[in-house]
Amino acid sequence: MRGVHSSVDAVSTLPFPAAVYAARLARASSLAAESGLDAIVVGPGPDLQYLLGVEGDTIERLTALVIGPAVTPTVVVPRMELAKVRSTAVGELELEIADWVDGEDPYGLVTAAVGHASRVGVSDALPALHVIPLGERLGVQLELATPVLREGRMIKDAEEITELRRAGEAIDAVHRRVPQWLRAGRTEREVATDIAEAIVAEGHRTVEFVIVGSGPNGADPHHEVSDRVIEQGDVVVVDIGGAVPSGYNSDSTRTYVVGAPDPAAAERIAVLVRAQQAAVDAVRPGITAAEVDAAARTVLVEAGLGEAFLHRTGHGIGVSVHEEPYIAPGNDLVLREGMAFSIEPGIYFAGEWGARIEDIVVVTAAGGERLNVAPHELVSVGSD
Ligand code: ZN
Ligand code: ZN
Ligand code: ZN
Repeated sequence: MRGVHSSVDAVSTLPFPAAVYAARLARASSLAAESGLDAIVVGPGPDLQYLLGVEGDTIERLTALVIGPAVTPTVVVPRMELAKVRSTAVGELELEIADWVDGEDPYGLVTAAVGHASRVGVSDALPALHVIPLGERLGVQLELATPVLREGRMIKDAEEITELRRAGEAIDAVHRRVPQWLRAGRTEREVATDIAEAIVAEGHRTVEFVIVGSGPNGADPHHEVSDRVIEQGDVVVVDIGGAVPSGYNSDSTRTYVVGAPDPAAAERIAVLVRAQQAAVDAVRPGITAAEVDAAARTVLVEAGLGEAFLHRTGHGIGVSVHEEPYIAPGNDLVLREGMAFSIEPGIYFAGEWGARIEDIVVVTAAGGERLNVAPHELVSVGSD
């Protein structure tokens, strides 16, 4: 999902006070202890962004955070990256910095920080390039720290939900402007370029993806954009998202029609809107992810559209666009207050058209709260 990708500002600002990161680090260490891990090595990526407010560079030079119940939190970082890292939470927290220059051995620095350990976990984004030599140096069988690291990221605190809400309002503002650009005679790419500009103008720091799937292209859930010229009567799937300055993401889909819709298509899309609503209504603490998925799926199956629904109902969202919890058949994960995820059922008719409706929803004590409120029904555009 990266039809149009751009970034206006690569400089990251620390979205939360340093105390927030200190608490996240402490919690990750105690979760590691609970699962029997002596240390966790976190490489660049969303886990590092969550724990330190800095994403880090995924390069051949190792950057890693080492934490654990008996470990002094240590950042191993190439000296050339040090200034960048210090400008984040690292500069305000009680962390050891172990910097290194080309020719020195970064794995030795990790090994020293870990100390005596029998079980060491790594974040799932740590490159194999580093995992293999690190495992050899530590002399242990490294394991995935995913179950430990996802626990913190899955349950959003009030500040994170504020950021997701900000992102939701920004992307809703873009969807409300889509009728300005989406019309017959323009290509998907032209429309996507206007949308990408608006994603930034409405308050995002980066454009993460712009999908404009018109007519038959909408029947492919993975279509991004093409040079296809949009025609009168086309159903058009517009799925867009970006990251606000704090790094939290938006992701929302609306389905549009150019001019008047075919009545049979309009009827099916009305069923899809009901299916999406049914899943949102099902959200509450205590229900499983699979049950929320089933709420949407049942509406579609009962309308004879079960075969047209080709994917899971949703995915978690936060500092990454796709993360846990996944709202999918077979996922017995019990939903808890503070989880945030998409509800995005779709229907796809190969060679003809497709439709998808997507909101981000937060689990509250009272049920599911939508963070996207732009009109969900089929929106007619392009008729003056
Ligand atoms: Zn996706
Ligand atoms: Zn989406
Ligand atoms: Zn999504």
